[in-house]
Amino acid sequence: MSLKSRLEKVIGGYPDKVIALMAWLWTLPTSLLASLLIAASAGPKKASYLFRGIVVVQPRYVWWFPKRFAGMVLGRVIIVRNINWFVPESQWEQAFVRHELHHCEQGLYTGWLHLPLYLLCCLMAGVCYGKPYRANWFEMTARLAAGQEVRP
Ligand SMILES: [Zn+2]
Repeated sequence: MSLKSRLEKVIGGYPDKVIALMAWLWTLPTSLLASLLIAASAGPKKASYLFRGIVVVQPRYVWWFPKRFAGMVLGRVIIVRNINWFVPESQWEQAFVRHELHHCEQGLYTGWLHLPLYLLCCLMAGVCYGKPYRANWFEMTARLAAGQEVRP
């Protein structure tokens, strides 16, 4: 039985609100960082609640956000350049949503350690492959889950 199946078996019986609360507590420091970044961006331009406590936010000014990134997951918050991509129509948008939701799922396993582990993987991927983002284990598994090209 995979880790995901086991996790679903354990949390599947709880109501969505309980799971949302547990997930928020488990990822609290990272989710708070997302809140600070959104506040530093003059607040949300648009925000939407997905399910099980996941919030999608398009900040007003994303000056701190690298231009080549379309989205970023911090805890239970998905920060995006364009929230309309979460009503996916094109194949790219569907893959984008799956990719970001996979990062949320990773966060359920790693909790508040997600950001330190992600940065550690960036370091390892940078040292081993010279590609801290593309060769990062978190990114490669998210691309695999989303059906996107996986190549370090
Ligand atoms: Zn990613």
